[in-house]
Amino acid sequence: MAKSLAELASPYLHGLAPYTPGKPIEEVEREFGITGAIKLASNENPLGPSPLALRALREALPEAHRYPDGGGYFLKARLAARLGLTPDHLVLGNGCNEVLELMARAFLLAGDEVVIADPAFVIYGMLAHLQGCTTIRVPLKAWTHDLEAMAKAVTPRTKMVFVGNPNNPTGTAVGPTELTAFMDALPAEVIVVIDEAYIEYVPQEMIPDSLTYVRQGRWAIVLRTFSKIYGLAGLRIGYGMAPPSIVELLERIRAPFNVNALAQRAALAALEDEHHVTNSRMFNELGKAYLSSELHRLGLQFPPSVTNFLLIDVNRDGRVVADALLRMGVIVRPLGGAHLKTHIRVTIGTPPENERFIDALRSVLQKGSHQQSAISRQGKS
Ligand SMILES: *Cc1c(COP(=O)(O)O)cnc(C)c1O
Repeated sequence: MAKSLAELASPYLHGLAPYTPGKPIEEVEREFGITGAIKLASNENPLGPSPLALRALREALPEAHRYPDGGGYFLKARLAARLGLTPDHLVLGNGCNEVLELMARAFLLAGDEVVIADPAFVIYGMLAHLQGCTTIRVPLKAWTHDLEAMAKAVTPRTKMVFVGNPNNPTGTAVGPTELTAFMDALPAEVIVVIDEAYIEYVPQEMIPDSLTYVRQGRWAIVLRTFSKIYGLAGLRIGYGMAPPSIVELLERIRAPFNVNALAQRAALAALEDEHHVTNSRMFNELGKAYLSSELHRLGLQFPPSVTNFLLIDVNRDGRVVADALLRMGVIVRPLGGAHLKTHIRVTIGTPPENERFIDALRSVLQKGSHQQSAISRQGKS
């Protein structure tokens, strides 16, 4: 009897479903026959890329027939200088998602344990599962990583611990004191992945000096990306910062030209545009204040966010609410899972986008409550 394709595939593929990203705007418009849809589903920067990055892209286009600089020489040099590291502390990835993948492939073996918060960024669990690891999930405490409990969950079989800081999908962060205590409590041979995809949105006094651990040679990697505040999600570029001993191992498995030439040029230019970053942060704070007060007015709860998104408890099936919003051309992210069935995650947009979201949400919730009261009346009669 010939084997089925599923039998030929890695056994760890069985429990996996593809990652479901937020729907692209064009797809939603086509599906529902509408125009002017807005996307608040993937935590992109609503102001777009920096104008300096756009100019760099235009200038780089004629060189598109050349392979990129496989070592990312200029970008690594620039990042190293900014961060007080040397280029051999840096690994560039096709989004920091690729760096997560490299870490998993380089270090995670079948039977290893991995400690993750619950809920956390779903990719951590998927990668661990794919390597045949056992995932230990530690519930959040007050919507934030319970680092004490995570340290206690470590056993002699624990290979890696993931800390999303800030955490996606809750938008919360741990501060310097908690992170230091956590790092001190962990056995030295446990590898710590600190995912700082949203760190540029966090108030300065709350940002842990995670690079200290990298400089000290601790087995830790800190991840950052150009996809979020830098507005370059479509180009796919992010990076990891780790002791050279870790970087050297990742370099062995990294695909030769994993980060394209346009992405490298745009990232370099985006780093120089302090104004765009400051402006993005300011717009985000304004949008967050507006959304917070409107959501309170609607009687909805959400954890305090230090990022560019909010996790909103809509008090009814989040998927139903997200689908209803979709039909009105507002794309948000339903979450589901064990804890978040009644939640949606919404990216903070431009002021008109935020207003449009609130108007649509208000109308969906009103319709929903009419329907619910109609159902309960029916039930009684
Ligand atoms: C968006 C995101 C990333 C991935 O970003 P890319 O650099 O685009 O791959 C990583 N971690 C978290 C928590 C994110 O939300």
